[in-house]
Amino acid sequence: MKLLVIGAHSGDFVWRAAGTIAKALEDGAETLVVALSYGERGESGELWKEDPNRSVESVKVIRHAQAQQAADIIGAPIRFLDWGDYPMLLSDERIEQLTHLIGDFEPTVILTHSKEDPFNPDHPLAFQAVQRARLLASGAGVPSAFKQIDPPAWYAFEPHQPELSGFVPDTFVDITSVMEKKRAAMACMGAQTYLRDYYAELASRRANHARRISGQKQVLFAESFQSQVPRVTDTIF
Ligand SMILES: [Zn+2]
Repeated sequence: MKLLVIGAHSGDFVWRAAGTIAKALEDGAETLVVALSYGERGESGELWKEDPNRSVESVKVIRHAQAQQAADIIGAPIRFLDWGDYPMLLSDERIEQLTHLIGDFEPTVILTHSKEDPFNPDHPLAFQAVQRARLLASGAGVPSAFKQIDPPAWYAFEPHQPELSGFVPDTFVDITSVMEKKRAAMACMGAQTYLRDYYAELASRRANHARRISGQKQVLFAESFQSQVPRVTDTIF
């Protein structure tokens, strides 16, 4: 059980997967969060509003501290790649860096952005980076010249406007036991306070769906995901 969570910006993992990460840790999994950028230009609006004259570097420092604090509350190690945002750009070196990271960590599950997000230029790019690096790290199914791992299961986490991003959830994770940790992690993200209520409400709504689907009445908060590749199991049950 090794969970790798890759977000385009340093706050993405908090809103979309903090509960699932905390739950995985509770279940004894090893986890790693990767922030491809700090979201210093496109997802730090409140910091820029506070002081329009501050430097990009100072925003990065604050965003780093906030995301580190959120990751510490959840108990997950986090790495910052500082690729820059709005626009994030891909290069051969960055794909190689991500491929090595995936190969070194050997995740059994990867969570990242959805393929589409018409409201965000960087999230689909993160999807593409992860898609390519995951394939390269797992040898695309055939023997290859470099180290390869078994292809990890791979899910998209929920985008901000799911219907408009082609996101159809097929997996719900019960995060009831760790919801307070998610709330505490969300509270660390001072640059995006408007999202706290929204994602707490979303967890409650997704739990309603999860209860209706499964009959599991104990689910009070949930996070939803969409699998990107079929799962292979040894039983239909
Ligand atoms: Zn983002």
